[in-house]
Amino acid sequence: MSMKDAMNPGIRKADVEIGGRFIAKVSGKLVKVRITAESSYGGWNAVNEESGRAIRIRSARRLRRRVKQVRCGECENCRTLIMLKPTWFKRYKAAKKALAEGSLNPDSWTPEQINAEWRRMCDESPCMGPKEI
Ligand SMILES: [Zn+2]
Repeated sequence: MSMKDAMNPGIRKADVEIGGRFIAKVSGKLVKVRITAESSYGGWNAVNEESGRAIRIRSARRLRRRVKQVRCGECENCRTLIMLKPTWFKRYKAAKKALAEGSLNPDSWTPEQINAEWRRMCDESPCMGPKEI
């Protein structure tokens, strides 16, 4: 077991659900797999999304992590958010600093408000081409 494997507890059995998508090592290669059913032989049946082949995952240890969706950074919505981000970050930092100094201007946002607004914007203009990693 490598140092990296020892430090990564991986996915626990209780975290695996039908329909879940994970990165798994299949034939020495990391690929995306989708869990399709529990296997009557133990573990789960899954589909290797890259080859389309059915495979069996004997143990949760074979699953490295979940497939994550991230913003593409290139679509119109992402570009707008990225363009806005420096301003947001500046306001956020200013609000945090003011909070720490106890000098928060009643007109300025709290970091919580800025975070909430950022989440709202992400919900309202979701990525049009999310990438999976
Ligand atoms: Zn995007």
